[in-house]
Amino acid sequence: MQIIQCPEEMRKRSDQLRLEGHSIGFVPTMGALHNGHLSLVKASLKENTKTVTSIFVNPAQFGPNEDLERYPRDLDSDVKLLNEEGCDILFVSEKEQIYPEGFQTWVEVAELPQNLCGLSRPGHFKGVATVVAKLFNIVNPHQAYFGWKDAQQVLVIKKMVRDLNFSIKIKAKPTVRDSQGLALSSRNRYLSADEREIAKLIPLAIQRAKEYFQNGNKNAKLLINELVGLFDGQKNTEVEYISLVGISDLKAVDKITKDTLLALAVRVGATRLIDNHLFSEEESCSE
Ligand code: AMP
Repeated sequence: MQIIQCPEEMRKRSDQLRLEGHSIGFVPTMGALHNGHLSLVKASLKENTKTVTSIFVNPAQFGPNEDLERYPRDLDSDVKLLNEEGCDILFVSEKEQIYPEGFQTWVEVAELPQNLCGLSRPGHFKGVATVVAKLFNIVNPHQAYFGWKDAQQVLVIKKMVRDLNFSIKIKAKPTVRDSQGLALSSRNRYLSADEREIAKLIPLAIQRAKEYFQNGNKNAKLLINELVGLFDGQKNTEVEYISLVGISDLKAVDKITKDTLLALAVRVGATRLIDNHLFSEEESCSE
């Protein structure tokens, strides 16, 4: 695997690959890779002739009191995993290269960030959209791969790509879970054994929601109350939101349909965990 650190070199390499007729798949990440990330790399390897993975812990998407400093970093292990997977290029850059002194241009999607994580993390999606736009310009891929676990992120990126005429196909892939149903996340390594037990309530909540809908129930408010109740009395646990929203605009719904997204953010100890379920999951995760 070739490792590139300089944005200009990455762009040149990509131009060269395009001239040679390659299709380039791109997997942007913040590192501390796990099987969720690797599922995206696998999908890209299958659907493109060259795959670029990037690792960049993007300061612009962390709030002032968030975990930027302690965010897990493990480049040696990441390089090993990507090598084993057969990834072609790793683009790994430093803050100074992505946000050089005097940087003042931002990309902001206006409405989609105004609910769910955007509410509790002001500025987060501005940081995400800006860095992804920059990475798209640097890597210049044909297709880019994102995890459905971050559903709001997928929608924001798709909107940005459409609105700014990027010629890149966005592929969203299903959430990879551990044997207990917990969505894999780089942040799971912060969890103590007790906290892991509490975290299991998140997949349980999703399971309850599936059954609720399968049994013909549609009332959003009642379901939310039931799911929030699952976390009642759990030590050091705070439900940031459990919301039922429309999949196109992320606005709250009263009645659950197949186009409804259940989105959850729960703080267990110092760790913020998110997950979601689209009631027509299989249909929408395939693209
Ligand atoms: P991150 O490193 O957390 O920024 O994630 C990089 C990419 O991996 C994003 O597109 C995430 O949505 C995706 N991702 C993270 N966790 C998972 C998971 N458990 N399953 C599938 N994709 C994931």
